[in-house]
Amino acid sequence: MPLASQQAAHLLAMAERVAHAGSWTMDLKSPQWVSCSSEFSAIIGLLPERVITRDELTARFSPLCRDRIGWLLQQCSRHGTGFDEEMQIDTPSSRKWVRMVCEAVSNQRGQVRSLQGMLQDISDRKQAQQETLHLAMRLTTTLATITEAFVTLDRQCCFTHLNQESEQLLRHSSAELLGKEIWTVLVNDKNQRLRQELQRSIATGRQLEFEDFYPGLGKWLEVRACPFAEGLAVYFRDVSKRRKSQEQLMLLETCVARLNDIVLIAEAQPARKKVPYIVFVNHAFEQHTGYSRHEVLGQTPRKLLGPRAAQDEFERMARMLARKRQARSELLIYRKNGSCFWLELEIVQVADTADDLAHWVAVGRDITQRKVAADAIHQLAFYDPLTSLPNRLMLLNRLEQVMSQSVALRRNGALMFIDVDKLKVLNDTLGHHKGDMLLQQVAERLAGCVEDTDTVARLGGDEFVVLLENLGDDAAEATVKTRKLAEKVLEQLREPFDLSGHQHYTTSSIGVTSLNGPHDSVSEVLKQADLAMYQAKTTGRNSLCFFDPDMQAAVNANAAVSSELHTGLRKQEFVLHYQPQVDRQGCVTGVEALLRWQHPRRGLVMPADFIPMAEESGLILPLGQWALATACEQLAAWAHWPQAAGLSIAVNVSVRQFRHPDFVDQVMAEIRRNGVKPGHLKLELTETLLADGMDITLARMGTLKALGVTLALDDFGMGYSSLSALKRLPLDQLKIDKNFVAEVLIDQADAAISRTIITLAHSLNLEVVAEGVETQAQQDFLIAQGCDQFQGFLFSPPLPLKEMEAYLMEPGTHRKALAATLLPG
Ligand code: C2E
Ligand code: CA
Ligand code: CA
Repeated sequence: MPLASQQAAHLLAMAERVAHAGSWTMDLKSPQWVSCSSEFSAIIGLLPERVITRDELTARFSPLCRDRIGWLLQQCSRHGTGFDEEMQIDTPSSRKWVRMVCEAVSNQRGQVRSLQGMLQDISDRKQAQQETLHLAMRLTTTLATITEAFVTLDRQCCFTHLNQESEQLLRHSSAELLGKEIWTVLVNDKNQRLRQELQRSIATGRQLEFEDFYPGLGKWLEVRACPFAEGLAVYFRDVSKRRKSQEQLMLLETCVARLNDIVLIAEAQPARKKVPYIVFVNHAFEQHTGYSRHEVLGQTPRKLLGPRAAQDEFERMARMLARKRQARSELLIYRKNGSCFWLELEIVQVADTADDLAHWVAVGRDITQRKVAADAIHQLAFYDPLTSLPNRLMLLNRLEQVMSQSVALRRNGALMFIDVDKLKVLNDTLGHHKGDMLLQQVAERLAGCVEDTDTVARLGGDEFVVLLENLGDDAAEATVKTRKLAEKVLEQLREPFDLSGHQHYTTSSIGVTSLNGPHDSVSEVLKQADLAMYQAKTTGRNSLCFFDPDMQAAVNANAAVSSELHTGLRKQEFVLHYQPQVDRQGCVTGVEALLRWQHPRRGLVMPADFIPMAEESGLILPLGQWALATACEQLAAWAHWPQAAGLSIAVNVSVRQFRHPDFVDQVMAEIRRNGVKPGHLKLELTETLLADGMDITLARMGTLKALGVTLALDDFGMGYSSLSALKRLPLDQLKIDKNFVAEVLIDQADAAISRTIITLAHSLNLEVVAEGVETQAQQDFLIAQGCDQFQGFLFSPPLPLKEMEAYLMEPGTHRKALAATLLPG
C-alpha cells in the first residue's frame, strides 16, 4: 500500500474509533460477503476477521429488528434505496443501540452492484435520552402533585416555568412572565432581599427559606428556593393569615403585658393534630405560676398544669368549650414550686379560621383571697364556733344526703339525739365559761366515739347529734351497733369532766331513730330522734330510748291540739278553779286547784279533754309548772287574808312532771319565791307513780317531805299500788277515789274496801280524804268509818277564784245552797 493510502487508512480507522462508527461493504454476488472495518467488527462483537456473510450480519440484529433489516437491505439491493435507521443488535456480551446507514453502489448502467454503509454505536446517547425521558416523566408527575405555587427560574432568575397556582398567586399568566426576571412581579419595599437571597442560592447551591411581605400582592409569602443545575425551583406559600394572627398576638401581648390578670393563648394547628399548645403568656402568668415564658411556649396547657391539677374540671371545661366556645370555672392551680392558688378562669375559643387555626384565649384571676374568705364564711355558716362541730345547717345537708343514699344503696343509718343534763345549772352556778368548757369536752368525747365517716353536730345549747352513716345492710345488726354506740356515749359522758380544776359530773339522755327505709323528710327524722330523746329524759337521767312509731302516731294525732295548747299557754288561756276540802266539822281546811282552759272558741275546757294531750306532747311540764307557780302565788296572796290564811292548796302533779329531773328544784324555787309555808302546799301524786321507778320516786318524795311539803296520794284504790309500797312512802294523806265514794252506799264490796282503806291509812298515820262526796248520806257513812276530810259537790264544785273567795266569806250559805240545788230530794 502506498504511503499516502496507508496514512489515509490509519486516519479513517482512528476516525471510526473516535466516532464509535465502523464501515462495511456488501458484495451482492452470492454468498454476499460483507467486509467489515475493525471498528465495525468491534461494535457487533466479532473478531477482527472483517468478513462475514449477509445472513450472519442479519442474525446479529435483535429479533425485533431482524425482519426489518433484511427487508431494508433487500430494497436497497433491488432498487438502490438507501436507509438510515436506529436499531438494536445483540452482541455476545450485550444489547446495543446502533445507527445503521446504508447506500447502494451502482455500475454505469445503473445496476446495483454492492451496498456500503456505516454502523454507529449510539447506546450511550440512547441511554441518556432514556434517562432524560424518565426524568421528564417524573418531573411532570411531580409538578402535577405540587399544589403550592411553584416556579422554576434560570440562573438569571428569569421564569422558565410557572404552575397554575403560581399564576394565580402572582396574578399573571405564564405567557406574560416566562423569560422575565422574577422581581419584575414580586416587588417589595426591602426589594433587594428577594434578589439577594435568590442570587446567593444560585451562587452557593444552597436551599433557602424566608418570609417577606409583598405590598404589590398585599401578602406575606413564605419563599423556599431549591437550586438545580439550570437555576432554581421556587415555592411560594401565602402565610398572611398566620402572620396576621401573630401580629395580633404581638399587639395583644403589648396590651395585656401590664394586666394583673393572667393571660394565656393557645393555638391548635391541623399539622399538630389540633392539640393546643401555648403561643403566648403574659407577665402576670409568669409571676403567678413561676414559669418563665420560654419554659411554657410550645407546651400544651394541660401538661403545664401538671397531673395534680383538677383534671376533671378541665374535662368539664373542654366539653363546655366544644359546645359553647367558652367556659368558666374556678380551679386550684399548682405553681412551679408546688404551692397552689385559686384561679378564676375564663376561656374563649376564637373562631376557627379558614386555614383551620384555632385559638383559645384564657384569662384568669387569682381569687385565693376571696376563696379563703369564702371558706371562713363557710366555716361560720356551717360550723359551731364553740366546738367547731358541724352546726344544724350542715347537719341538715348531710342528713339529706345520707337519707337519699340510704334508700338508694339500701344502707342502714341512724340518728342520735344527745342531751346533756343540767347544763343550765352548771351555767348558773359556775358561770358560762365552765359551761362552754363542758360543751367542748363533750364534743371531743363524742367525736372520739364515732367513725370518721359519721357526723357529730351541735344543734345549739346542750343538744348534740350523731349521724351514723353506714351501719351495713342488715337492719337488726344496725340496731345492735347503734345501741352499743349509744351506750358507749352514755358511759363516756358519765366520766368526770375536768373544768380547769373543777371536777364535774353530768349525765345525758339519748334518743335514737333509724334511717332505714324511706322517710318523708329530714325534719321528720329529727323530730323522731328528739321525741325519743324526750322519752329517754322522762324515764330518768342517763338513759337511752329508741323511737317507735307509736310515739309518733300519738304525737301526730294530738299535734293539732298540742299546737293549740302551746298557743293557749303563751296567751295565758289557762286558769285555776278551786274546790274546798272540809273536815268532819264542816270547816274548810284547804282547796284543790283544778286546771281549766278558757278556750277562745270552745269555752271552758275541762282537764279530761286536754291533760292527756299535754302529757303526751310534754306540754304538761310547762302547764304543771304554771299551775304550781299560780297556786303558790295564791297561797302567798291568801296569807294576808284571815279567812284563807290557814288554808292549804292541793296541786295535782302528773307522773311525767314528777319524774322530770328539775321537779324538786322547781317546787323549792316556787316556795322560796313566794315565801309560802311549805306545809300549805299539798302535792297530789297518783298511784301510777308507784308502778315502776320506785327508787327515784321514794328519793324525790323524801326530799319534798324534808322540805315540809304535804304529800297526798290521789285516786287511791284504783289498783296500782301495793299496800306494802304504801308503807314505804313518806305520805301525809290518802284520797279515796270518787268512784268508790259513789258506790259506798250501793255496793257492799266498795263499802268494805273503803272501810279497809280508812283503817289501813290510819294505821300508817295517814289522813284520809274522800273526794266526790255528793250526798249527805255518803258523808255520814264516811264519817262513821272515820274519814277525816271531804271534798265534793255536797260542799262546792270547783269555783273560779273570785267565787271561791266569796264562798270562803260565807261557807255555810254556800254549802246549803249548793246541797239544795244538787240534791233536791
Ligand atoms: P282529780 O285530781 O281526781 O280531781 C277531782 C275531780 O273530781 C275534778 O275533776 C273535780 O271537778 C271532780 N269532782 C269534784 N267533786 C266532785 C263530785 O262531787 N262528783 C264528781 N263526779 N266529780 C267531782 P276535774 O276538775 O274535771 O279534773 C279532772 C282531773 O284532771 C283531775 O282529777 C286531775 O287528775 C286532773 N287535773 C286537774 N287539774 C290538774 C292540774 O293542775 N294538773 C294535773 N296534772 N292534773 C290536773
Ligand atoms: Ca286531785
Ligand atoms: Ca282524784
